[in-house]
Amino acid sequence: MSMSLDSHIEKVLWTQDQILDRVAQIASQITLDFKAAPDPPLFVGVATGAFLFLADLVKKVQLPLSVDLVRAQSYGSGTLSNGAPSISLDLKLDVKGKHVILVEDIVDTGCTLSCLIEHLEAKGVSSVSICAFLDKPTRRKVHIKLVGDGKFYKGFECPDYFVVGYGMDFAELYRNLPYIGVLKSEFYK
Ligand code: 5GP
Ligand code: MG
Repeated sequence: MSMSLDSHIEKVLWTQDQILDRVAQIASQITLDFKAAPDPPLFVGVATGAFLFLADLVKKVQLPLSVDLVRAQSYGSGTLSNGAPSISLDLKLDVKGKHVILVEDIVDTGCTLSCLIEHLEAKGVSSVSICAFLDKPTRRKVHIKLVGDGKFYKGFECPDYFVVGYGMDFAELYRNLPYIGVLKSEFYK
């Protein structure tokens, strides 16, 4: 395997500059929307894919806030979902009565987020908002029901490609790309 990272990429869908501009816009919107809330919001990143987005996002939100992580297992190492996800790493913080913003890399079928929302709702959260960096609306299988007065924030609508970079992997590689791209077909193996 060639070790030059960029040489694995067929095409770039969003550059690092485009990503950071959009993240700053979303962060401003969240700052506005939660400014009047009585308690600091809790940002819950979905590991591992959301780690870069979560980091960039919270640095730009001008509010006191907390951060936690969850992990949901839904994909194997390939590009196809294996159905109903399960929670394999639970929250550290108590979320009862909290306004949670679930931070996700990409919404595809919607199964992962629906499962996580149900999980949070059962713990007694006040609201659940979604902040997804990418959305593939044409591939949705389940309707995503927010909790309380939760909102849906998204970065970009993604065409129906399997994308990598900015936290997202193929077989646990490419998460460190600072942009979003599509791999050359020889590397989807
Ligand atoms: P869903 O449960 O909505 O079908 O899938 C959500 C998860 O599948 C995402 O959090 C992400 O980890 C993975 N996923 C969906 N589409 C893509 C994609 O195009 N690229 C990568 N790397 N992961 C994806
Ligand atoms: Mg994910």
